[in-house]
Amino acid sequence: MHATEQSLEQKSFAQLRPLKISSEILAVLACTLVVALAHASQGISLWLYGYCLVAGVACFLTCKARTTGHLWLTGMLHLCACTACLGSVAVAIGTPVFWFLPIGLVLSLPVSAMHAHPGHAPSTGAAIWATLFAVVQPDFGRQLDLVLALVLITGSLLVATLVCSTFSRTRKDVFDLQYQLHDMAYQDTLTGLPNRRAFMDRLGTTLTDATSAAPLFFLMLDIDDFKKVNDGFGHDVGDQVLIAVAAILREHSHGHNYARMGGEEFAVAAQVANAAQAQELARTIVAAVNSAQVCGLSLSISIGLADHQPQESLLSLMHRADQALYDAKSDGKNRYAMARQVVMVV
Ligand code: GH3
Ligand code: MG
Ligand code: MG
Repeated sequence: MHATEQSLEQKSFAQLRPLKISSEILAVLACTLVVALAHASQGISLWLYGYCLVAGVACFLTCKARTTGHLWLTGMLHLCACTACLGSVAVAIGTPVFWFLPIGLVLSLPVSAMHAHPGHAPSTGAAIWATLFAVVQPDFGRQLDLVLALVLITGSLLVATLVCSTFSRTRKDVFDLQYQLHDMAYQDTLTGLPNRRAFMDRLGTTLTDATSAAPLFFLMLDIDDFKKVNDGFGHDVGDQVLIAVAAILREHSHGHNYARMGGEEFAVAAQVANAAQAQELARTIVAAVNSAQVCGLSLSISIGLADHQPQESLLSLMHRADQALYDAKSDGKNRYAMARQVVMVV
């Protein structure tokens, strides 16, 4: 399953589950009330509470459901139990034909908006009507009444399918829109890399995550003499350079948190075993950029590398990496420099 489809499935499940649970609880309460009233006024069998019990169990299973498929199955069981309950009450009080259509319509139509997939509505509707026919076994008397009832049932199944597919399409549209908005908010348009916001969010999570034991290293990268590229060859070539450097970063920082921070500046937050591995990463990126050619131009990049100290704030870490970047620039560019240690004020 594609990642977006998987997320749509998860989102649909998260949206529908509470709706299903609350509507099922209401339906169980309504059925129990109907049985109680019919028992009080007509003395019908208390065994009909058994259907309410089955509907309650189905509701419990809905609480335990893990997928939209589970919701569909538990929902179907629940609705069939409610249908059997109300149909049996209608038979017991002696007006089965009068209640036949209202029971089927009330139980099958509203739930059609609560299905994740269009196929779930007609199958659930069919199960409800089949249960109702089995329990009530209505005698419509005239052929015409039976035909009209069948036309109504078919119409209700079609309407349920239409409502269900409209709702699931709307859910998908909303989800796609959210996905696009997320990309716009967290992705750099030119290079396709995560942007500053995505980087900082992830870094914040890493720093507050007590379980992440690996040391953290922050690399601040800045393309050397980039303004000269823009001034000498135009912004288009400048953009090509940015895209090429982004591709190099993507290749060598795979698995780490990396981003275009803005302009010709990039960042990587790497959780590696020790400083030697972080330095190796910085060295590799410097060498890869230096051996790349964009529109016949040779490139170079400078990197400031800072190791995260215990209790150090994000601001201080970034500041030290920035200082190290400045050192790399003043030492001649096309290199990385290590940050100075934090000066602890006591
Ligand atoms: P240094 O080696 O010291 O880093 O110098 P530099 O020229 O790389 O840095 P400077 O900060 O002087 O110039 C950065 C330039 O990057 C200025 C700005 O016009 C350009 N720039 C920022 N964003 C973009 C972009 O999206 N596309 C292009 N083509 N240029 C950009
Ligand atoms: Mg810069
Ligand atoms: Mg620069």
